[in-house]
Order: sequence, then structure tokens, then C-alpha cells
Amino acid sequence: MKYYSTQNKDHQVSLKEAVIQGLAPDQGLYMPLHIPELPDGFFENIKKMSFREIGYEVIGALFSEDLNPDQIKDLVDHTLVFDAPLVQVEGDVYSLELFHGPTLAFKDFGARFCSKLMSLLLEGEERKVRVLVATSGDTGSAVANGFYKVPGVEVIVLYPKGKVSEIQEKQFTTLGENILALEVDGVFDDCQKLVKEAFLDPELKANMLLTSANSINIARWIPQCLYYFYAFSKLPLTQKELVFAVPSGNFGNLGAGILAQKMGLPIARFVAATNMNKVVPEFLNGEIFLAKPSIPTISNSMDVGNPSNFYRLLALSDQDEEKLKDNVRGYYFSDKATAEAMVSVKSRTGYILEPHGAVGYLGLKAYLSQHPDHVGIFLETAHPGKFRSVVEEILQMKITLPERLEKFLEGTKKIEAIDNDFEAFKNYLLAKVSSH
Ligand SMILES: *Cc1c(COP(=O)(O)O)cnc(C)c1O
Repeated sequence: MKYYSTQNKDHQVSLKEAVIQGLAPDQGLYMPLHIPELPDGFFENIKKMSFREIGYEVIGALFSEDLNPDQIKDLVDHTLVFDAPLVQVEGDVYSLELFHGPTLAFKDFGARFCSKLMSLLLEGEERKVRVLVATSGDTGSAVANGFYKVPGVEVIVLYPKGKVSEIQEKQFTTLGENILALEVDGVFDDCQKLVKEAFLDPELKANMLLTSANSINIARWIPQCLYYFYAFSKLPLTQKELVFAVPSGNFGNLGAGILAQKMGLPIARFVAATNMNKVVPEFLNGEIFLAKPSIPTISNSMDVGNPSNFYRLLALSDQDEEKLKDNVRGYYFSDKATAEAMVSVKSRTGYILEPHGAVGYLGLKAYLSQHPDHVGIFLETAHPGKFRSVVEEILQMKITLPERLEKFLEGTKKIEAIDNDFEAFKNYLLAKVSSH
């Protein structure tokens, strides 16, 4: 399969190039040139299939030109090592829990898939591959855990000194092995700038194989379609039409839902739910798409003012804005409404939402109030323990962390530190090559 850039459909590359490059040279996002439709037989049997069996079919349809059946099985088995339960919260409202992975957020699916796919595509490569990732917290932990102990790959996580929560920091600084943590005396944007400069530096390019694994990489984006199929397989039989509500920031997760829909999954519609970073809901409600600086909120993993996957949403709608607006309905919510929903759901049903899931829940309820003939699933994208202090304050209760997270907190932090200076970073990288 070829992959094209959303900036220019004539710019087409192989799967390997798309994955190693991450972003297209023209700054576009890669998209599969052809989206395969799954056969009717698949949907007739889906309710009897396991998550992995569904994975073999879906990933097989997308990657069979580039990978053999054993590699596809490897890829799916490596990715789907934790469940995604569908929990009925009330009436026609279900929560798809995507937080049972190693770092307690849905990004674990994409990170695990990406690491395995990279190692498959780089088989036979003699040089060590180095993955550079700049993080404000979540991405670093998901990518580090996804790549942990993957042979031939070294991950270098750049993070801003003192700007990452203790739990997040522990999740990528205590692993060791092939995961290196580099503390930068600066802010997140400085870390991102150092990474971008490294990719452009001719001397580094000549001396080492660098790649990115950032959130727009096709290898992190595509596998997110899997749990939409799985959720559908778990939904009790109903005559009602199905809507998915997706709490969104960069809109990768929602885009992957549309990919599943295009592959034949019977989804009637999507709800794009955001916090006050609302450029996409505003666009869907008739305004012009205009990127804005981000605003801090309690659902901070969705504080995105310029959502990069917007162009994927358009590509999936054949560049037809009206088609996109009909398929996806947009809603946005304040922190106050989010906190009130968390309290009300807890007291009425006992279910504990964290702020991102609560935004999805609110979007779904708003939609269902106007479309009572639909049944809805919202995505709960993180474990309440991941945002423990906010959740404890709002719900006035203690949240216990899963055991695997407690384990991270006991680990010993191992880091190196550099100044916010490209020459310092470059020397750090070049020293890696000469010492291996
Ligand atoms: C990244 C993230 C989101 C936003 O997902 P997008 O694909 O960027 O829209 C939502 N919730 C949590 C917990 C996240 O970490």
C-alpha cells in the first residue's frame, strides 16, 4: 500500500518511508491511498470473535501488501495485551474503557503498535534506530513503555525540567534498558525544537538513523481504529443506530473511528467533544477553521489549539466539509460542566469518570437528548488515577492507583541532563554513536 501526504495526493511513499519519516516533508500527514472494506462475513461473525481475532482481520486488510501473515499476527499480539471493556453506565450510554494498558491511557495502543511495526520494517537494518520524542508527560510515558526492550531501537525522551508530574516522570525515567531520559533546562516547546533541529541536521543524518514516533505517525494513528470494532462486537443487540462520542484534542482518535466506519463498521455518526479548546466544534457548527493558542483546562491532554489531525478528518471526508459536518457533530464544555458531570454520574450510577472521559460523556448526552433513537458509546481515554489530584478534589474521595502504577513510583529515576542548547544535544547524540 502507498501512503499519500494530506498536502499533496501525488506525493506517495511506501509504508516504511511513511513510518520512519513520521511527518511528510511538505508537513502533511500520511494517509493510506486506499481504504479496504471488510467483507460482510466479518461483520456477521464479529460478535463471536476475540479482540485479537478482530485485530488480525482489520490489520490484515490494511497491511497485507507489506507484511506477511506471521508479521501481522506478531504485530496484533504485541499490541493487544490488555482489554478494552465496554461498561454500561446508564440506559443507552456505554463507556469504552481504553485505560487498561501500561501507562493507563489509550495512547498505549498506538505506542505498542508503532514500536512493533518499526522493528518489523527495520529488520535487516544494521544500524541502531534512535527514536527521539519530546514530551510534556503522556506521550513520553506511552512511547517509552511501548518501545521498552524492543531490540535494535533506542528511545531518547526529552522532557522539560520540573514541568512533568511525578507519576508521569517515573513512567519513563525508571525503565532503563533501551529507554534514555534526557532532562532539558527549558519548557516543552524547547524540547520539541531540539528534536526538530536534530532531524534537519546533516551531520546527525549522516551518522545515525533517527526517527520520531510522534502522535501523527501513521503507525500510531491506524491501530486506534481497532477498539471501535471491538466495542461494536461487545454492544448488546439493538435496533438503534450507533454513535461514538470521542473526547478530543489532536483528533487522531476520532479520525481513527472514521477509518473504521469507512472500512464498513456501521457507525451512524460521531460526536466530537472538547473542552474550551473548541476550534473543531466551532468549525462543525458553521464557523471557519481557525487555529488558536491553547487554553489550560482540567482535561489537559486535550488542550490543543491547532489540532493536527483536522486534515485527516477532511481527507476521510473526500475534502467535503459538508460531509464531515453531517458525519461528526461538535460540542464543547467548560471545566465547571465537566466537574458537575463527574459528580452527578458518580452519585447517580457509581461510575467514576476522569475529566477527559467526562467531556466525552457530556457530548454523548447532549447528542442523545436530540436523537433518542441512537445508542451511544463514549471513549474513556484515561484511568482516574492518572489525573488523581483533580479527580480526588472534584469527587471528594480517595482514588487508588493500579498496582502496576505503584510499581513505577517505587523505581529509581535515572536521567541525564542538558542545557537548552542544540550543540549540547547534538554532542550528546554523537557521543552515543561513537560509544556503540
Ligand atoms: C491524547 C489524549 C486525548 C486526546 O486524543 P486525540 O487523539 O489527540 O484527540 C484525550 N484524552 C487523553 C487522556 C489523552 O491522553
